[in-house]
Amino acid sequence: RNLKRQTMCRGDINRLNAAFLAIYDSLIPADEEKAKQKQLLTVLEKLVSKEWPEARLYLYGSCANSFDFSKSDIDVCLVMEAGNSDKSEVLLKLADILQADNLQNVQALTRARVPIVKLMDPVTGISGDICMNNVLAVVNTKLLRDYAHIDVRLRQLAFIVKHWAKSRGVNETYHGTLSSYAYVLMCINFLQQRRPAILPCLQGMDITYSVTIDNVECAYFDQVEKLRDFGSRNRESIAQLVWAFFHYWAYCHDYANDVISVRTGCTLSKRAKDWTRRIGNDRHLICIEDPFELSHDLGRVVDKGPLDLLSVPTATCIHGHAADFIKRLQQVHSTTH
Ligand code: ATP
Ligand code: MG
Repeated sequence: RNLKRQTMCRGDINRLNAAFLAIYDSLIPADEEKAKQKQLLTVLEKLVSKEWPEARLYLYGSCANSFDFSKSDIDVCLVMEAGNSDKSEVLLKLADILQADNLQNVQALTRARVPIVKLMDPVTGISGDICMNNVLAVVNTKLLRDYAHIDVRLRQLAFIVKHWAKSRGVNETYHGTLSSYAYVLMCINFLQQRRPAILPCLQGMDITYSVTIDNVECAYFDQVEKLRDFGSRNRESIAQLVWAFFHYWAYCHDYANDVISVRTGCTLSKRAKDWTRRIGNDRHLICIEDPFELSHDLGRVVDKGPLDLLSVPTATCIHGHAADFIKRLQQVHSTTH
């Protein structure tokens, strides 16, 4: 609808490039901050190995997938055989150990959907959460990081999208909007579908990395240093991509029928996944297939938003907000002329 009116010419969009790159640069964490995160991880590893010599700690989430903003919290995963003790017991014990070592704000949230221990390190000022045996998250973190190494435009686009989502309050799964993980998958899938493609489909290539976790096979091509030139035939700037991303989610995505799938590099049908109707709280209004847990729709939490700017029956919060973003870009564009 009104596609013509919604279209800005290439030259106009490029005027926004410097602004987007400035936002991206301002959000990247400094090297000292990454060093402090490592320092904290080393402290935690020492404490953990005293009690459980076989245990391992892994960073996951944005602090390890290269999509973290400066001053982000860290996500840590404790991997170990729990033997006879259950997760809650181990996490409560871990909380005691951390508290005894003067870590601050230590709290074991053993009843949460993903049980964690929260902490703040007074030496580095960094806060973090430690979960247990969430190995799939460690592996999907590696997948996102590997994609980020192929073309810098993924990291730039995902930073702008995450920044927009956090500023707009649409990055809160407990309020019916999408996780950062889901937004990054949307960016990857979008870049896989540009023509020429900017990102490949790593799970459709020769397998160089393979692990099986909780009966889920995670396998893909991870020698991404060989793919550095992959996107070079596509010369689109970050401004063009940001525009096209929001334009896609505002006007082109088929919310009624399509599922975003990084695993296949394209879209699948909701019907084939049986994600066509509401089941319990899972509404499946916007469908994003997890790359490894294929029955997992990361958009299932999305509620019908209050902002239904286009009055499209299947409009979701994201849909309305994306359309609003496009309008705002046009306003910026018209005031710069
Ligand atoms: P932020 O900078 O906003 O904290 P993040 O990448 O740490 O970003 P989260 O959405 O909090 O974002 O997710 C942390 C990690 O947990 C993800 O990188 C992913 O590995 C895992 N994760 C989050 N949500 C899911 C989910 N629904 N299914 C599977 N893994 C998930
Ligand atoms: Mg995080």
